[in-house]
This record gives sequence, structure tokens and C-alpha cells, in this order.
Amino acid sequence: MFSISDLNVYHGDTHALRGINLTVKEHRFTALIGPNGSGKSTLLGAIAGNVLPKKGSIFLDSKSVSSYPKREFARLVSFLPQRTHTPTGISVRELLVQGRFPWRTWLGKWSNKDEEAVRRAASLCEVEALLDRPLSALSGGQLQRAWIAMTLAQDAPIILLDEPTTYLDVANQLSLLDLLAMLRDAGRTVVAILHDLNQAAQYAEELVMMRDGEIVAEGATLRVFTDHNIENVFGVRSRMLEDTVTGGVICIPSSLET
Ligand code: ADP
Ligand code: MG
Repeated sequence: MFSISDLNVYHGDTHALRGINLTVKEHRFTALIGPNGSGKSTLLGAIAGNVLPKKGSIFLDSKSVSSYPKREFARLVSFLPQRTHTPTGISVRELLVQGRFPWRTWLGKWSNKDEEAVRRAASLCEVEALLDRPLSALSGGQLQRAWIAMTLAQDAPIILLDEPTTYLDVANQLSLLDLLAMLRDAGRTVVAILHDLNQAAQYAEELVMMRDGEIVAEGATLRVFTDHNIENVFGVRSRMLEDTVTGGVICIPSSLET
């Protein structure tokens, strides 16, 4: 899977990633957590081949990410960046069709396999009834589901998502996380940036905790989801309670003043 060593990335003068070493495990759900500006998006973007390292390497299996032909890489890895803009004048169906680009040849015909992938992705993300709607006529939550459906239509075994739950209400957040867990159970590898610590701890079995461009703690959630690490990363104290239903741990952050 991904193997990252001594990764250093700059944005202008900002040293955004400082010597990152990380192995992303296959068939796992890994969550990246950390405060704003800690380098999460830069790291995910670098893994997706969208951000050029100044120093260090990122390998996918035995090949450097930067050496993959674009389409070959996109058959293996689908990446949903943090949304910056929504294309106007296209329908949900047209958005999902764009997800099929790595599988289509130049001037290639739309195949049954393409159609099947779009239908499956639309069904998983519950956007079937919206396929003919223009993106401009969707609610925030529907639009986010459409983007995720496009990512799934790409049919890659590795799925990278930058803050996929951010625009969703809590019910839609949970149904998305359930979907990602289901995809992981079906053999995919999921890496997502999540803001809700308890959701990250509940759904991801691997956590990567970042601060100031560095990894402060990483590994099995059961081991690294501790008050000590949370204070180290976010600068807030927290009480850790046992969830008697799941056997997991719930974090209740509290102000440093109390
Ligand atoms: P996060 O996703 O954890 O909020 P980012 O990876 O977006 O963090 O940003 C890491 C650091 O790099 C921050 O200091 C941010 O201001 C800076 N940065 C990110 N993108 C750019 C950019 N395009 N140009 C300049 N600085 C950037
Ligand atoms: Mg970010």
C-alpha cells in the first residue's frame, strides 16, 4: 500500500509537511485528524499525487506515486478533495459519468460496465432519484452525496476523502460513515480527513494525528485515542469515557481553563 518516508512539502514559504513517515495499511479505514492548518489536506493531496514533495518519497506498492501514468493511478486511487467549487450547468448523472474517466479510452464508447458503475454508485449514495437534476438544484447534503457518488463511480480500490462529512447533518454524516465502513469491509482501503474525534475513533481502526506539519501519534485507534495525545494535538484537555455499548472510548473535550 502507501509507504511515505521523510516527506517534506512547502507551500511558498510555509513548511506544510515536516518529515512525514507513514505506512497506510491496505483494507483499513484510516482517519487523519488534527487542527486547522496542521497539514492534513496537504498530506492527503500528496498521497493522491496532487501535491509535489520538496523532499522524500511516497510509494504505492513498489512504485513512486509520481511515476504512475495518470489514468493507471486513477484506476487504483480515487480522491475527493475538499470542495472548492461546483461546476455549473451539469446534472448529477453527468458528474458521475466524469468519475469513469480512467476507464474510458480516448473517444471510447460508454460501456455496460461504465453504466453499471454509475448506477451502483448512485444507489450506494442514494442519489438515484436525483440523477437528472442539475447540481445547482441540490441541497448541500445532496450535493455532497453526489460528489461522493462520483468518487465511487471511479471504482478504485483506494478511496481518499478530504472532510467528506463537513457539509452534512448528523444523520447524513453517519450514513456516509456507515457506507465507508461497508466499503472497507468489502475490501477497499479508505483514508478520510474527519473533524469529529468521536466519529473518527468509532469508525476508523487507524488514526493519524497531526500538528504543525508533523505526525504526533499514529496507529491503532484503541492505542492512540488517548487524552494525552488529544491534548498534545489539539491543546485541549478531555475526559475519556467508556462507551458501554460499543466498548470504545468517547472523548469529551473541555476548556483548558477548567
Ligand atoms: P489542514 O488541511 O490540516 O487544515 P493544510 O494542509 O490545508 O492543513 O495546510 C497546511 C499549511 O499549509 C497551513 O499553514 C496552510 O495555511 C498552508 N497552505 C495550504 N495550502 C496552501 C496554499 N495553496 N498556499 C499557501 N499555503 C498553503
Ligand atoms: Mg484541510
